[in-house]
Order: sequence, then structure tokens, then C-alpha cells
Amino acid sequence: MESTLKRTWAQIDLDALRHNYETLRRRVGENVKFLGVVKADAYGHGAVQVSRLLQELQADYLAVSSIDEAMELRQNGITLPLLILGHTPREQVGRLIEHRIAQAVTCRAKAVEYSEEAVRCGGELTVHIKVDTGMSRLGYLCDGRHFETGVQGICDACRLPGLKAEGIFTHFAVSDEEDESSVDYTRTQLTLFRRVIDAVERQWGQRFALRHCANTGAVALWEEAYMDMVRPGLLLYGYGDFAQKLGLQPVMTLKTTVSTIKTYDPGTSVSYGRIYTTDRATSMGVLPYGYADGFLRCLSNRCSLMTDYGPAPQRGRICMDMCMIDLTDLPQVDVGDEIEIFGKRNSVEELARLAGTIPYELTCAVSKRVPRVYFRNGEEVERELLLRF
Ligand SMILES: *Cc1c(COP(=O)(O)O)cnc(C)c1O
Repeated sequence: MESTLKRTWAQIDLDALRHNYETLRRRVGENVKFLGVVKADAYGHGAVQVSRLLQELQADYLAVSSIDEAMELRQNGITLPLLILGHTPREQVGRLIEHRIAQAVTCRAKAVEYSEEAVRCGGELTVHIKVDTGMSRLGYLCDGRHFETGVQGICDACRLPGLKAEGIFTHFAVSDEEDESSVDYTRTQLTLFRRVIDAVERQWGQRFALRHCANTGAVALWEEAYMDMVRPGLLLYGYGDFAQKLGLQPVMTLKTTVSTIKTYDPGTSVSYGRIYTTDRATSMGVLPYGYADGFLRCLSNRCSLMTDYGPAPQRGRICMDMCMIDLTDLPQVDVGDEIEIFGKRNSVEELARLAGTIPYELTCAVSKRVPRVYFRNGEEVERELLLRF
């Protein structure tokens, strides 16, 4: 563990996470519950550590994508209510009930499966009904001519034996975009969601305890979408334009180290494919950070990484385990120096923009061989390497 640390590692700033949570909590107010989205290993930050802190800070709910992710949290002392946003095979319903894990119900067929299994186990499964208001992914289709059948399907699910309909939710497609057509689209989704809730509650004769739809974009831009509970992911981790505007802080700093520095003559080609050739005597650093660590290969020759003395352009194809940076104009940099891949001084937003993607993909891409080092009150409190020993 110790030996791998000064290769490539991710520093996770739990103080920043606390700051982000507390800032968002104040923003949404006391009457709105807070669900933290910790799927995909908390967007690469470590679901157990992130969830522990959110539990300590008295968040109300956590959401993951699968029963394996939910069980990881249960096995590690997380007692907060958990919601699985994605697919769970019917054979797993008994475990959901046993471990008090709530499940999204996304269509009639799944509702029937979950109900049958819950009855067979003699238990009750807590469910949140997912409404498709325009994302066109999971959920009861309720748009336009599908309104009546959608509402009927949801009412039927709520009445199935073995299911306890605690919540109802929908997901926005463009709540983070501020152009007119996106704003219209989000407003249409929100209006439809409200109409569906009203119709279902009237017909079913009961109220949902938790109506929720506000992801990161809606927490930032759509106060009227907060309802009973907000459901942000990215904002918690402090990335994106909205995080910056709200004064949130990036939680992850990804670092690597200089393993070799060599000087090449002009006209020397560097790395696979020979896509970079030196045009002067060039001092080139080799970093133990490649696409198997989560560096996107499409960034080859297109980005800079941050030294203590300024940005160093990345040169040549990014390899599986290594990449090269140009240190010619940064003669102070030495072998063993730390390089910030992204963090407070080299933003993940800019790196994502250069790669034609979003910050989510870059933090999720940090692979399991990259140790996570956790800091709290400015001090290292835990190291984790997700390899099996
Ligand atoms: C991932 C996800 C979220 C969180 O999205 P962010 O953009 O990170 O806030 C919320 N709800 C659902 C259903 C999701 O899948």
C-alpha cells in the first residue's frame, strides 16, 4: 500500500465534502430531505467513506445503482435508508427486504415481479415509483396520450401486495442547461410530474411520503422542483459550473509523480503512433499515469497537467500505464515531484471539456489500482486500495 502511494493517487478531501453538503443543506432548507447520490463508488470518490460522512452529517437518504452497491454500504455500517435507482433481478428481492433497501419500480412488469417475490418471502418491499416524464429511459411513460395508462399502471403498482409505495420520482434530461428550449423542456417535465402525482394520489387515495426529482441541475436552478427531497450527485462532489457558482469545493485531487526526465534532440518522435515529434531540444518527463488509471486516451497531445511551477503540456500518445509531459520550460521540476492531474489547480472541468466529455466521466474513470487517500481536518485519516491482497 505504502509503496504504491507515490505512483498515482487520489486525495479525497472530506472537509470539502462536508462543506458542500452543509452548503447545499442550507440552500434547500430544513423542510426538504436530502438524498445523496453515491452510485458508481460515489462517482469514484469511495462510496463507503462518502456515505459514512453523509450519515454522520445526518443526510436523509442515499441512492446507488445496484444491489451490490447497496450491500457494500450495508456491510460497512451504513444504516441510512438506501434507494436502488436501477435494475434489480427478481431473485434479489428477499435480500432487499432483509437489508431494508428500497427499490425503484420502473414499469408494470417489474412491479409484478417485485410484488410476487415480496409475497413469496412474506415481507414488504419499500418502493419508489419512477415516472418517465421525458428522459425516455426508465419509468412509467406518462407523456401525452400515455397519461391515463401511465397513471393507471402506477396506481396498480401502489396497490400490489408486498409493495409499500413510499416515494415517487422522475429524472430530468436537461435541468442543467439554461437555454430557452431546455428550460421549457424541464418545465414541461416538472409540470407533467406534478400532474401525474396529483392524478395517482387522487385515484389511489393515499399520498406519497417522498416526491423527488431535483438532480444537480435542478438543485442549482429549479427551487420549485425541490418537493419533499432533493437528489444531487455531482454538486456534492463539487464539480461543474454550478458548484463553482454556489461556492462548493472539488473533493478529489488526482496526483501522480515524475518517474523519469530525459532530454531528446529535435526531431525525436515520442510514444506509440509517433503523433508527437520534438521541435527543439526537449526535456520530457514520464509519469506513471495512463489510460488504465483512468486517463482518457483521447486527451493525447491535447491537455496539460500541473507541476508546482506551472502547467506542463502532455505529449504523444497516452499509454496504458504511462504518459509523457514536456518539462522544457519548467527546468525546476525534478524526478519525484508531484504532478496534479486534476484538482484545485488544474480543473477537472477543463480536462473534461478538452476530452469532449463531462467531469462525471473523469472521476468515475479513476481506476481501482489508484489508491484513495482520505483527508479530514486537513489530516490523512485513511488509505484505501481496491486491489485484492
Ligand atoms: C445519477 C442520478 C442522479 C444524480 O445526478 P447528478 O447530475 O449527479 O446530480 C439523480 N437521480 C438519478 C435518477 C440519477 O440516476
